[in-house]
Amino acid sequence: MPKNYLLIPGPTPVPQDVLLEMAREMVNHRGAEFASVLKTSTELLKKVFKTQNDVLILTASGTGGMEAAVANFFSQGDPVLVGICGVFGERFAKICKTYGLNIKTIECEPGKGVEPEVLEKTLKENPDIKGVFLTHNETSTGVTNDLKELAPIVKQNPERLLVVDAVSSLGAIDLPTDELKIDIVVTASQKALETPPGLAMVSVSELAWKYNEKANLPRFYFDLKQAKKFLEEGATPFTPAVSVVFALKKALENILTRGLEENFKRHKFLGRAVREAIKALGVTRLLADERWASDTVTPVVPPENVNPDELRKYIRNKFGVVLAGGQGSLKGKIFRIGHLGYVEPTDILVAISAIEVALENLGYKGLKGKGVQVAEEVFAEYYKN
Ligand code: PLP
Repeated sequence: MPKNYLLIPGPTPVPQDVLLEMAREMVNHRGAEFASVLKTSTELLKKVFKTQNDVLILTASGTGGMEAAVANFFSQGDPVLVGICGVFGERFAKICKTYGLNIKTIECEPGKGVEPEVLEKTLKENPDIKGVFLTHNETSTGVTNDLKELAPIVKQNPERLLVVDAVSSLGAIDLPTDELKIDIVVTASQKALETPPGLAMVSVSELAWKYNEKANLPRFYFDLKQAKKFLEEGATPFTPAVSVVFALKKALENILTRGLEENFKRHKFLGRAVREAIKALGVTRLLADERWASDTVTPVVPPENVNPDELRKYIRNKFGVVLAGGQGSLKGKIFRIGHLGYVEPTDILVAISAIEVALENLGYKGLKGKGVQVAEEVFAEYYKN
């Protein structure tokens, strides 16, 4: 078995010191030791969320956090707007529908994000919209929505809730929650936060808590008011994924010691290096429009006669580099390179090199070193400062 290079957009590689936290013996989840770890993790998370709002840690995957963001703040029939740029925007829309909300959507072409003008126009035409759901980083299409542009448009009505899925961005791409007045931000442990899967995190603004008082949708496991009450005592309403919380605390300490801004910078360079390398190959194409191109995941359209899933299998078997496939309508059409979390420039060089050799062996001649060379140039710039 070759060495494992996990370059999918989550779960992402976990550093050894974080993994070792998971090996700690079990503690009472209602005792003082766990209370301290939970409270510290929550405080550290607030720094990563850039918020003074409450942050609640749930034992769930990211989708559980998305469901909590719907079930706790809205009522049957509430008009809401969902920006759909791919599979995860669609998921928000499905959850809203499941809970009986009255949804309007803005649908983006694959590889494009939400246009501010379209958002503004839609909200003007539908002034009764109570909440807007946006995906910060749409993992299926490699699109990052520009929330610095979009959030103020939503907040032209300060009473409207802004809900953001930051599952594949928080910690890697800047998201100043309070500065942008984002009411609810959802993320998960297994992406940029360098932690194994198992936890969702949700930040909740004061305005959102006001909505919570009136919200009549059913909720039980994901009752955030209850989670807030328990957190005051350093506990959770139900048995949490104790080991993952230990791991999360360590991972957050690592990230904050390194510096959030440094993390954003590294991801910017990783994203740029991958994109420039793919362009340099000439035979592959980027799916996402440069304007919205994500710094955490890059979807790639392979040469016409190459099946992306066969290519991935070859790369996995020969070089141990694990890439992701397409999702939804992009299944079988693209492959995706994840470059978020505990991923470094050398990992990217390995991935690009593996892609070059695989394509070369499929008959695409003259590719060797082309992508790697431009990626190295980008990384030389990164390490210069
Ligand atoms: N939102 C985004 C943007 C994601 O990338 C993902 C997972 O890939 C999710 C939501 C769902 O998270 P989970 O698979 O942890 O439920």
